[in-house]
Order: sequence, then structure tokens, then C-alpha cells
Amino acid sequence: MAKRRKKSTKDTQTKAKKVKRRKKRREINIEAWIDKYIMDFVDLTGLDILGLNEKQYKELLSDIIVELYGSLTSYSNVKVVAKRYLRARDKVNEVIAARLAFMADKLSPEQLEFIVFNIGVNSALSVIPRIYGFLKKLGRDDLLDVLRVKWRNSWLKKKYVVLPPQCPYCGFNSLMPDLTCLVCGALVSEKDIVNSKDFKTKFAELVKALDCEKLKKMLKHDIVLYNESEVKLPDQGRSPVDIEIYIPQSLKSIIRSEIKEKCEG
Ligand SMILES: [Zn+2]
Repeated sequence: MAKRRKKSTKDTQTKAKKVKRRKKRREINIEAWIDKYIMDFVDLTGLDILGLNEKQYKELLSDIIVELYGSLTSYSNVKVVAKRYLRARDKVNEVIAARLAFMADKLSPEQLEFIVFNIGVNSALSVIPRIYGFLKKLGRDDLLDVLRVKWRNSWLKKKYVVLPPQCPYCGFNSLMPDLTCLVCGALVSEKDIVNSKDFKTKFAELVKALDCEKLKKMLKHDIVLYNESEVKLPDQGRSPVDIEIYIPQSLKSIIRSEIKEKCEG
């Protein structure tokens, strides 16, 4: 026993000497370090929940580990690098989530949850259309609700100050002026929009707010503009997200009865 201990002490000393000597000559071989410790890093950080294989983890994490490792002139052990990850976790997980969404053809429920809770404003608009179908198939409406909020926040920050109207199929504020949906890919008909509760409510609010002159003008001009905030007349200014809607006869009757009440009473 004593003999073995002596030997191992000697080994350690030799190793330490070697490292010291090597340190003077060249930097840490980070690729070899990653090869050796990648799965330890995954276990220590809790990223084992993603259930990937070693090759996939390397693809996902190598450049992140290089950054966390920092200076290659001194040796860091895997626990230290894992601690650095834990300190920067929110930011790093956002990058991992965005990357993971496009990495595999199929995503497991655990991977989807990770993506939903970790994507941020910078990646939500590109990641959500990618994972919508998976979540819909899984019946995870709870996660879709989380994403609807993230989509809206991201849109307002990265795209434009006004939100597009909600798509009647997926419920995201992602309906474009050409009536296609950026999230679920649906092509929505004007009839679907005109019959939606949201459009009807906003149309009624507009009619209530207009004076007699504008109501009569509205009856002559057939178009209103629609976005998440309002239905408005074309001369109220057009934004890039506005959808042009032809006023159907069924809604013209609402304008007529408002004129009757407001202007002919
Ligand atoms: Zn949609």
C-alpha cells in the first residue's frame, strides 16, 4: 500500500513537471480537451437532458466551450469550465436553443421544452416557425402559449412597432399583407378574416368612432386596413404590416345603420 502511494506521488510529480515544461512551449490543445471532457461537461451542466450523442454534443457545444475556456495558455479543469457556463447560462442557453432547433430532423419533447424556454428575442422569429409543427403534433398548447408571447416581444423589438393580426389558424401575430402566415404557413382567405371575432370587434370600434362625413366616405371607398391594434381607413396612414380588406356587404350594413343613427336622427 505504502509502495503504491509512493509510486503515485512520484507519477504526479512527473506529470506536473511535464505540464510545466509543456506550458512554456505551447498552448493547451483545446480540441483534445473537448474530446476528453465533453461528456463530463454535459453531465456537470445538466445539458444531458437534451439526450444527444457525443458527436451531436460536440457539434452543438464545441465553440461555446472554447469561449468559456478562455485563455489557452493555462490549464482549466472541466469543473471550472462548467462553472463558467452556469454563470453565463441564460445567454449561452439562448444560443444553444437556436442552434438545436435546426440541428436535427426530429426534436424530442425535452429538446422542444428546452428550446421554448430558452429562445430569446434575437432568435424567436426564426426558431418559432421551425418548431411550431412539432409542438402542434405533440399537443403542447401550453408551450405554444409561451411562444406566442415570445413571438410578440421579438416582433416588436426586431421588426416593427405594430404587430400583424393574429392568424386564425395558429393564433400567432404573424399574418402578412399577402394573407400568408409566417408561423404555420397557412394561406388565409379574406373571408376568414372578415368573419373573425377580432376583425368584427375592431371594425365596429372604427364605425363607432367616425363622424358622419367619414362614415359616408367609408361607404363609398371599399377598403379598410387591419393590424393587431386596429381597423382603420386608408387615409389614416398605412404601416408595413397592414392588411387591405374589402368591406363586404354584410359589414356595409353596419355602416349604414350607424349613419342612420348618428347623422339622420
Ligand atoms: Zn398561422
